[in-house]
Amino acid sequence: MDAQRRVIEDGAIVLEGSKILAVGLRSELERQFKGARKVLRANSILLPGLINTHAHIPMSLLRGIADDKRLQDWLENYIFPAEGRNVTREFCYWGTLLGCLEMMLSGTTTYTDMYYFEEEIARATVQAGMRGVLGQTVIGFPVADAKTPVEALARTEAFFKQYSAEPLITPAVAPHALYTNSKETLQACRKLANQYKRPLVIHVSETKRENDDMIAKYGKSPVQTLDDWGIFDGPTIAAHVIWVDDQDIATLARKRVGIAHCPSSNMKLASGIAPVLKQLAAGLHVGVGTDGPAGSNNDFHLIEEMDLAAKLAKVHAMNPEVLPAKTALEMATVHGAAVLGMSEQIGSLEAGKLADCVFLRSSSPNLIPSFDPYSSIVYAAKAADVTDVYIHGEQVVAAGKSLKLDTQLILKKVQDYQRQVVLSLSKK
Ligand SMILES: [Zn+2]
Repeated sequence: MDAQRRVIEDGAIVLEGSKILAVGLRSELERQFKGARKVLRANSILLPGLINTHAHIPMSLLRGIADDKRLQDWLENYIFPAEGRNVTREFCYWGTLLGCLEMMLSGTTTYTDMYYFEEEIARATVQAGMRGVLGQTVIGFPVADAKTPVEALARTEAFFKQYSAEPLITPAVAPHALYTNSKETLQACRKLANQYKRPLVIHVSETKRENDDMIAKYGKSPVQTLDDWGIFDGPTIAAHVIWVDDQDIATLARKRVGIAHCPSSNMKLASGIAPVLKQLAAGLHVGVGTDGPAGSNNDFHLIEEMDLAAKLAKVHAMNPEVLPAKTALEMATVHGAAVLGMSEQIGSLEAGKLADCVFLRSSSPNLIPSFDPYSSIVYAAKAADVTDVYIHGEQVVAAGKSLKLDTQLILKKVQDYQRQVVLSLSKK
């Protein structure tokens, strides 16, 4: 996965510090870099770290709390009450450690988040050694970390300042959606993002109901309304983007909005099928995302999302030729990087880019024989095939185990939180 999409057999990459120095044939690079320390991984596929363009990471602690519900029922009757009684600073910190553990062990090196207490999420993400574009939520009703949108915006600005120089973290502002925020709040979010040159993360046109309600309220689709208000006038990451027409897609392309496609979530919540092929054809960058694990997925496995992105597009088009494996891998790597505005830094294995890379064990029974590596990675590989992960030049996973996090301690904390959540919901 480089600019030429080369597949190099018996290849190697050379890392120096946080960056990739060279990519090529092992024999040539061994000659060129004689004194370098060698890490040999026979029977492996080396690929760029996967990029999850949409998640709510601390919701790992609410994994599967309410399945098989309609989005509004799920949000209003399960998620918002469970969050209201449980989400604290510590909850976000431990939920992030669990989420980072799961993401890293399954090959994700960068993720985008939208949640509360984002500074705690950033702290845990740095501790895990992961890369994050972390969006502090701004929403039009009282939540765990802010009573009002004005307070949430002040928290966001403090978060921008606190994480201005951490190489692994890109702080962002995350107005939840058009239907949960006023025009004034959304415009204040855009202004703050532009002032600090940070991205804006938002859910857009996830359900038909959202579209119908917004058209009734504003006379235009969510995309057109947001565009009229200037919300896309700066780097934007839009999640879902399902209920969009040709005019909306043209607007998104003109504004270079990055799209986070979340096939598991869209299928599980029966939100609809995003017109990914049209979006790609319009020149939009479309990445893949897991969304949160509380009922809309319920895991953070990006290999599975690639597989589902390809298959959902095929069944939607009733055509197996569309969205081939190579495109699916591009969505989880180079497109994902472009969605986050990080094309120059991550998403491919090329000299000069940051060293975020993943080894898959290609001798796993489900990966042999292999006639085409793209096919193997997208349609046959599983999270458990990931053996080693490097982020920012540092090895964070070896032989399928985290080198940075205390797995036993995290598991114990998760059990404590599960008991606490059950207890909180039993109280009237
Ligand atoms: Zn979401």
